[in-house]
Amino acid sequence: MLAHDFPDDLKPFLAPTPGGDMGYDCLVCGARHAPDRLLYTCPSCGGLLMLTDHNIDRLRDKPGSFWRRLFDHRLMLNLPALRGVFTFHEFLAPNIPLSDVIYLGEGHTPVVKAPSVLANMVGANFYVKMEGQNPSASFKDRGMAAALSMLNHLVRKQNLDQVIAVCASTGDTSAAAALYASSLGQAVKSAVLLPKGKVTPQQLSQPLGAGATVFELPGVFDDSMKVVERLSEKYRVALLNSKNPWRVLGQESYAYEVAQSFDYSLLDKVLIVPVGNAGNITAILSGLLKFHRASVIDGLPKIVAVQSKRANPVFLYYRQPLGDRYYAPVAVKPSVAQAAMIGDPVSFPRLAELSALYEREAGLSSFYVVEVDETAIMEGMLQANRHGLTVCTQGGECLAGLKAALGEGLITPSETAILDSTAHALKFVDFQNAYFEGRLGSEYGVATNPELANRPRQVELGQAPIPEPGKAMAPEDREAFVSAAAKAIAESLGLAEKA
Ligand SMILES: *Cc1c(COP(=O)(O)O)cnc(C)c1O
Ligand SMILES: [Zn+2]
Repeated sequence: MLAHDFPDDLKPFLAPTPGGDMGYDCLVCGARHAPDRLLYTCPSCGGLLMLTDHNIDRLRDKPGSFWRRLFDHRLMLNLPALRGVFTFHEFLAPNIPLSDVIYLGEGHTPVVKAPSVLANMVGANFYVKMEGQNPSASFKDRGMAAALSMLNHLVRKQNLDQVIAVCASTGDTSAAAALYASSLGQAVKSAVLLPKGKVTPQQLSQPLGAGATVFELPGVFDDSMKVVERLSEKYRVALLNSKNPWRVLGQESYAYEVAQSFDYSLLDKVLIVPVGNAGNITAILSGLLKFHRASVIDGLPKIVAVQSKRANPVFLYYRQPLGDRYYAPVAVKPSVAQAAMIGDPVSFPRLAELSALYEREAGLSSFYVVEVDETAIMEGMLQANRHGLTVCTQGGECLAGLKAALGEGLITPSETAILDSTAHALKFVDFQNAYFEGRLGSEYGVATNPELANRPRQVELGQAPIPEPGKAMAPEDREAFVSAAAKAIAESLGLAEKA
């Protein structure tokens, strides 16, 4: 739609200009630092940082209905910078000019209603937001779009060149970082650190394909993360891990889109989210609180965070009595929800702060953490994908979490759940295949249900001639092959012959 066809009262606001009063807030000493450079820890005390807008109250000068109409109309505007996560520019990173925004097709992922057969099996109606349909096939593109737009802004404003962007990853962060960095050409080069053998071959192929420098390190993600932290302390690099608070801002867009998909009515909804490094859950809570405070949504939804029993520090923290909780990292064991296999989540201090704020505004029964086992995760993924969905193991973890929350009575079947399928099924397809072939080693502790397994069938051709590569088949041989194969397949499927 052309700009002049929009309603007159919205026209001046369609393409936002930079605004707000962004700055880094230290979660430990409370210092505030200017946003004109990239910071990952507090220069005064080393604490974890969050980005806040000290002029956020300006968003309340307009009624919630104004923002709802503006964001809905923006979906019809053909302005690439506003087509992705920056649809919500005023709430997200209002300091970044639209001319510096990088848009590679991220965001606005579909929300798909689970077919009723599947809903009946689970015992509640639910939707799945298909985050695997982002450009690098996971939600990490949301945060990377914000972080690389900010980096692009700084590179241009400060004439930087030869910036080296680094991250450690359980697979998807590096895929997204490499993709977005590669769109900036010469100015930014990316280097990624991966725990060897702990990312899937598909995830490894992504940064390689995007031209990043890929380092494989022994150990698990937490070990690679420590090395990246050392690199960012001692050397001039741009850090793209979720310590980078711009990523958290980008990931808030998930919450804004969920609100938009349900006409900004979230009171009777439950958001189910898998938790690894706790960046995503932090961003979702933060986004919901911003939308609520500006009256864009009618109320705050319930949140159910999910962890595998094999990587559950966040679960263990929240299961202790309120007021007497103690955080301790855990040593992770192999989990099929490998992208969330993190024992010492970097964003934990942010989550602790935001979940307390969330419970203060939404009530004490608004934020839960459940844990699920590996068998339930695999069965959740396989069941979902047999019913029209394409969820990854972490999406399976969400489905298992929905069942667990229903079982524990944390939510009731009358509530509507929205599951975060954080990546595409194809990234984690090796876990599916290993399950089907009965070789999902005992290290994962998965009990296989033969009813969920699926294997290709070989077609019994007897003495029939067989096509060979590079050789033409005689017509009678082809006829014999086709007829033998069709007969064998019809038998296998139990097909009735036409009268
Ligand atoms: C990163 C990731 C997670 C975990 O998100 P955090 O922000 O680290 O908690 C879950 N699923 C997928 C597919 C991921 O890539
Ligand atoms: Zn500090």
